[in-house]
Amino acid sequence: MTALPRGGHPAEALAAVEASIEECWRRFLAEYGVAAGTREETELAEMVVADTSAFRWRVVDAALRRLRCTDCGNELGSGPTGCGKCDQADGFRFAAIEIDRPATPRGTEHGLRVATAVARTRHRYGVRARCGFELGLPSLLDGELPSTARAQAYRAAIDKLTEDECERVTSFEEVLAKHRGTRRPRPGLSSRRVR
Ligand SMILES: [Zn+2]
Repeated sequence: MTALPRGGHPAEALAAVEASIEECWRRFLAEYGVAAGTREETELAEMVVADTSAFRWRVVDAALRRLRCTDCGNELGSGPTGCGKCDQADGFRFAAIEIDRPATPRGTEHGLRVATAVARTRHRYGVRARCGFELGLPSLLDGELPSTARAQAYRAAIDKLTEDECERVTSFEEVLAKHRGTRRPRPGLSSRRVR
C-alpha cells in the first residue's frame, strides 16, 4: 500500500482504491487458476502488460506492481521520469479499459484511475499537479466528477499556494479557504491581540 504523505481523506481514499485493485487481481488470478507468489503469476502479469488495452485498469495497475523495471529496478512504470522503460509502461497503463460504475457521471472512472496513478507514482509529477489529483481522489471514489468550472477554480486556487502548502493540504475546501485568506484579509483580524 502507498502511504500518501499528506494523509487525511486523500490517503484513506487511496488505501480504499488500492484495496480494490488487489481484490481485482485476486479474482483475476482465480479466473486463470493461478496462485499468488508463483512464476505463473509473474507470467500472467507480463501478459497483461504486453497488451494493456485488453484488460481493466485495476488489473493493469496490479500487474505493473508485480513486475520490476529491468533498467531502473523500480516497480515497472514507477521509476523516475526519464527511465525509458518506465515511461513507456506508464504510457501503456492508460490504454487499459475503464468502465464507469453504475449511477456515476461518465468519465468518473477515468478520473479515478488517473488520480490513483498520480498518487501512487507522485514523484513523476509536479507539486501542483499531484496536489490537484490527490485532493480529487475522495470525491471521485464517491462517484462524483467535478464540473469543468469547478476543476478550474480548484486549479487556480492551488496555483496561489506555496509548494509547501500544496504538499500539506488535505482537501479542496482547505485550498479555497487559504486562497480566500490571502486575497481578502479581514480588516482588524491581524491587529487582534492573541492571548
Ligand atoms: Zn524504470
